[in-house]
Amino acid sequence: MPADYHTHTPLCRHASGTPEAYVDAALAAGVSEYGVSDHAPQRPEPFDDWRMSASELPDYLGWIERARAHAAGRVAVRAGLECDWLPGNRAWIEDLAARHDWDYLIGSVHYLDGWDFDNPKWLGRWATADLDGLWERYWRAYAEMAATGLFDILAHPDLVKKFAYRPAGDLAGYYEPAVAAVAASGAAIEINTAGWHKPCAEAYPAPEFLRIAAAAGVPVVLSSDAHDPSEVGRDFPRALELARTTGFASTALFAGRVRRAEPL
Ligand code: ZN
Ligand code: FE
Ligand code: FE
Ligand code: ZN
Repeated sequence: MPADYHTHTPLCRHASGTPEAYVDAALAAGVSEYGVSDHAPQRPEPFDDWRMSASELPDYLGWIERARAHAAGRVAVRAGLECDWLPGNRAWIEDLAARHDWDYLIGSVHYLDGWDFDNPKWLGRWATADLDGLWERYWRAYAEMAATGLFDILAHPDLVKKFAYRPAGDLAGYYEPAVAAVAASGAAIEINTAGWHKPCAEAYPAPEFLRIAAAAGVPVVLSSDAHDPSEVGRDFPRALELARTTGFASTALFAGRVRRAEPL
């Protein structure tokens, strides 16, 4: 199985499991590498209640070291972060990037104008939301994130569909400019299997997005977005099939922020 680079730790306050349990799960799932990418600190602190604080970064690196010690060479353990892309956040991401020899940084859009739209506590707001407007803003933010060049992997490309609120009609008009920005940036996208377990009942991103991205030469990784050891490598056989049928011939591996391809 390809690597699983998008996984969390209890430091984000909404994930569970020990480093040893995650490593055992990665070995059982047969993923080629296991990467830790917990929700990065964000300023001003406290920013929200679902991430580590900047003062916890040493604990986070210690957690990854414990995973490495337990893995003992049986599976590579990579160090990453899932960073939030917010307008004006460039200096802070560059600061985080310099704090450790990361293997990769993941960029995510979880906020639109200060609203963490994928947080289940705001589900009620979706029923009356201006869907076309939100989708336009989301995809503009996603393209902006790609264009910064700050990230190696861009997370869950159509997270905005999480609660199954989608504009009517063909969605390719949203996907095409976003894919163009991603392709120009050189970053990889992920097939994030968590979407299969959310109300949208579809991996992130949609197959049509993947076909456009594959045709544009965008690299891809598979991700579970595990918040518990039982989720590491979840649905990877299905995701692998999705990658193949939408036109990908390889997945990406990262070490020291350098990408290489692993044929499917
Ligand atoms: Zn999370
Ligand atoms: Fe995320
Ligand atoms: Fe995540
Ligand atoms: Zn995520």
